[in-house]
Amino acid sequence: MSTEFATRCIHIPEERALKDRYGAMTYPIYQTATFAHPGVGKSTGYDYSRSGNPTRDQAERIVASLEGAADALGFSSGMAAISLLMELFRPGDHLVIDSDLYGGSTRLFSRVGEKNGLSFTKVNCSQNEVEAAIRPETKAVFLETPSNPTMRITDLTAVSEVAKRCGLLLIVDNTFLSPYFQNPLELGADVVVHSGTKYLGGHNDTLAGFLAVKDPELAAQLRFLQKTTGATLAPFDSFLIARGIKTLPLRMRQAQENALAIAAWLKGRPEVTKVYYPGLPEHPGHEIIKKQARGFGAMISFETETKEFALRVLEKIRLISYAESLGGVETLLTYPLTQTHADVPEEERLANGITDRLLRMSVGVEDVRDLIADLEQAFGAAGQETNA
Ligand SMILES: *Cc1c(COP(=O)(O)O)cnc(C)c1O
Repeated sequence: MSTEFATRCIHIPEERALKDRYGAMTYPIYQTATFAHPGVGKSTGYDYSRSGNPTRDQAERIVASLEGAADALGFSSGMAAISLLMELFRPGDHLVIDSDLYGGSTRLFSRVGEKNGLSFTKVNCSQNEVEAAIRPETKAVFLETPSNPTMRITDLTAVSEVAKRCGLLLIVDNTFLSPYFQNPLELGADVVVHSGTKYLGGHNDTLAGFLAVKDPELAAQLRFLQKTTGATLAPFDSFLIARGIKTLPLRMRQAQENALAIAAWLKGRPEVTKVYYPGLPEHPGHEIIKKQARGFGAMISFETETKEFALRVLEKIRLISYAESLGGVETLLTYPLTQTHADVPEEERLANGITDRLLRMSVGVEDVRDLIADLEQAFGAAGQETNA
């Protein structure tokens, strides 16, 4: 059986044993809440779908295989996965977190984590600020690379060295690159987080979250917490994720190719004052991402000359949608200030470059000529109105 990545997206090693008696090519959706037992003290391996469901197991096995994890756990959303991780900590514990994170994670930490007695120090992980923030009560480091939305790149090997030396759990949200481009567990992380809603699902049609865990003991502890708290991934959504992953390599390759072309186009536009894309050689993290990942992904942020221009572009795009989220086949344009990062305090937002002129694009897999044509007409129309 081949073990290459693209093959593992479609075939998992246990597949033959798992095939049903009709030879169905896709794994069945076990849409059931409970399972009958063959006898007292006997079990089929399943008893209740919150604790375990065959379709969810299938999606979890695939994600574990792609991240090189001992185990992976499926949740009803990315935030459910991150919330569950917080159950590992007790009042008084401290976490070092990246200052440039998905807005929902920042909100969870400041509005829920702090209420529960946790404390957080935000640092710029890409600038090696982690070690200085560590205290005796520090338990973990939480980061994203590339970060969201300004695509800062953190050297994972360097941070994992600090985390190991200080006995901290290193948690990496790998949503932006997906396991196709980056495997943080191989670079020293302990837990990888995914919003499966994004590239794993890939079609903007379901919410999902995953935790991929290196240590089997930690995985068992998280499994206990997962079945106890209950935000597990439903059977149908597990099926959608497993189906989406079959084309993950194809989608990631095409989206990145499109992103490289769009980043080059943006750079050539006079209305664009800054382009954040780690695939550009002048991006400050370009060499590090080349060293630790197999690609640059397909997320681009850019700043326009004025706020008015940025807002007009959002109104004038036709093929591209003005919508939050990312990682699907459709190209989306987001306004981080009021959408994904609305809950980040202003001072912090500005320090991180989240201005009122910043747009974030999740480049999809449409024909890139149509995407650029849409941007061209939107820029043209926005320019006319702004100048009028
Ligand atoms: C979307 C996202 C999340 C949250 O995931 P949901 O599935 O929306 O709950 C977490 N981290 C990153 C980087 C994301 O983009």
